[in-house]
Amino acid sequence: MQFYINNKQIISNNVVIVGNDSFIFVLRKVKKKNMEKKLKIDSVCVQGGWQPKKGEPRQVPIYQSTTFKYNTSDEMARLFDLEESGYFYTRLQNPTNDAVANKIAQLEGGIGAMLTSSGQSANFYAIFNICSAGDHFITTNNIYGGTFNLFSVTLKKLGIECTFVDQTWSDEKIEAEIRPNTKCFFGETVSNPGSRVFDIERFAKLAHRNGMPLIVDNTFPTPINCRPIEWGADIVTHSTTKYMDGHAAQVGGCVVDSGKFPWADYPERFAGLCTPDESYHGLIYTEAFGAAAFLVKATAQLMRDFGAIQSPQNAFLLNLGLETLHLRMPRHCENALKVAQYLESNKKVAWVNYPDLKSDSDYELAQKYMPNGTSGVIAFGLKGTREDSIKLMDSFKLISIVTHVADARSCVLHPASHTHRQLSDEQLKEAGINPELIRLSVGIEDADDILNDLKQALNRL
Ligand code: PLP
Repeated sequence: MQFYINNKQIISNNVVIVGNDSFIFVLRKVKKKNMEKKLKIDSVCVQGGWQPKKGEPRQVPIYQSTTFKYNTSDEMARLFDLEESGYFYTRLQNPTNDAVANKIAQLEGGIGAMLTSSGQSANFYAIFNICSAGDHFITTNNIYGGTFNLFSVTLKKLGIECTFVDQTWSDEKIEAEIRPNTKCFFGETVSNPGSRVFDIERFAKLAHRNGMPLIVDNTFPTPINCRPIEWGADIVTHSTTKYMDGHAAQVGGCVVDSGKFPWADYPERFAGLCTPDESYHGLIYTEAFGAAAFLVKATAQLMRDFGAIQSPQNAFLLNLGLETLHLRMPRHCENALKVAQYLESNKKVAWVNYPDLKSDSDYELAQKYMPNGTSGVIAFGLKGTREDSIKLMDSFKLISIVTHVADARSCVLHPASHTHRQLSDEQLKEAGINPELIRLSVGIEDADDILNDLKQALNRL
């Protein structure tokens, strides 16, 4: 592939970057050639993204700097004209972030990625990069409450409408929701907090046959358990705050571009990518950057204007988490299955949602997309009242009440009282959440200790 900016070739046979970084994509190519064919995903977790040269630090350095020095004014001007690649301002790109984004891109099988300040900003960027005022998109209703608010309230204020569909609907019924201004489909691989499994392949086919990309939030399974791009997803997002970091140390997000969606085939629908960007010298992203158009636009335009960048310090912490992701995920799943089986057998428990349980309605889907396990997150309800749920939570000793989820330490939350308290009962149901639902995020402690804590708390009811 050849990429040009203003008809000027910047780097042949490599994707290049706007405003700064050949780094992500050049490294990506090197890896593809020299490492990815040899290295398995576990090794990418440990070593991907940063290969120091002679005398360089073994650990990815934290470039704790807002800016980067050049020798002449002309050198700097050439960066702004996108005539040369290089770092100039951390709001747009930073070498620490790029190394870590590159690791995540490799894990997901994308051509590149950008780190954002949170999972919320990752989903906002993914949608806003192709939707603007007057546009519409379709999402399944089983999504995180924060994403639900972003889509149904905040994006609406920006003139972007969204339709929530139920994946139990037929293809015809879902396609009937497509409008002339519909731009994309969205889903969450394993939903937070309901633990429902998204039928990625089906929705990818549905989106593609209607000339649209599929965006998948892959936060809960992580690429260790599911790689949505292999099932047809075009863009993958993450709240890296969760398992990727895994230690509740920092908030962050990521957008991964598969590089596969043919934006230029639909120039009117994706005008932002296929027509001149007046804020960038009339640059046409698809012409200048081909497969990387989406990612380059998200960096050059959205990051420039909204600035929701992840700090290099947080990217460093995220990378520490990623180094053990492949060890932690199987343990989360192993412990969660034991806990889910115990809950299922307990007479005080009314229902358990855990897609790895054979009895779960999403078991088949989970086996298809995540045969090694979904995540450590279980949703369940007690036979008692809402007060019983709260009493149970207050009785835990090892398992802590926190807003967080997907952490090395077991934790619990009652979404209707906490994260989703702004949703009405009707909206809760629309989002697939029972008001009595308890979300248990099973950690990587000894499973017996987690089970004993659950038993003593259930015995108090
Ligand atoms: N997506 C999913 C699936 C989540 O669970 C969350 C947060 O819990 C988010 C996005 C938002 O991420 P953040 O809290 O990092 O903004």
